[in-house]
Amino acid sequence: MKVVRLGEEILRQKAEPVAEITDEIRALIRDMFDTMVAEDGVGLAAPQVGKNLRLFVVKADDGIERAFINPQIIATSQELVSYEEGCLSIPKIYEEVVRPEKITVQALNERGRRITLDADGFLARVIQHEYDHLDGVLFIDRIDPAKKAKIEQKFLKKAAEKEA
Ligand SMILES: [Zn+2]
Repeated sequence: MKVVRLGEEILRQKAEPVAEITDEIRALIRDMFDTMVAEDGVGLAAPQVGKNLRLFVVKADDGIERAFINPQIIATSQELVSYEEGCLSIPKIYEEVVRPEKITVQALNERGRRITLDADGFLARVIQHEYDHLDGVLFIDRIDPAKKAKIEQKFLKKAAEKEA
């Protein structure tokens, strides 16, 4: 699947809940895992492949493939940590982002089973980044606004050059 890049409107939309976990949704999840691995990513949200759905996939440092459908972060730690993030939709840009160290997330998995997961460290980081995508939020929204403006300008310029 093609990963959409910064500047495309779907990345800024609030995604819609998945109404039913059909074979089509399961096929989409499979394709998203394949795309994520092919692009050398650790997480991928449906809006990044042009699907306006509340669903994302993660394969963090524990190597476990996890799909989160209609997720909700139900708890976050007071403790915050800074960590360098990147995004397949904003290639070659890496910036420090501050987020809670630990989270509890609830979601449905691809079999429709409700899961509750306590995550910390890198996994918690990836889940929070992907979760943001479902609300049209990108990691550059959480950095210094001047830096963000520079990055956006760069990508808009690139998009304009492509069109020209
Ligand atoms: Zn991202």
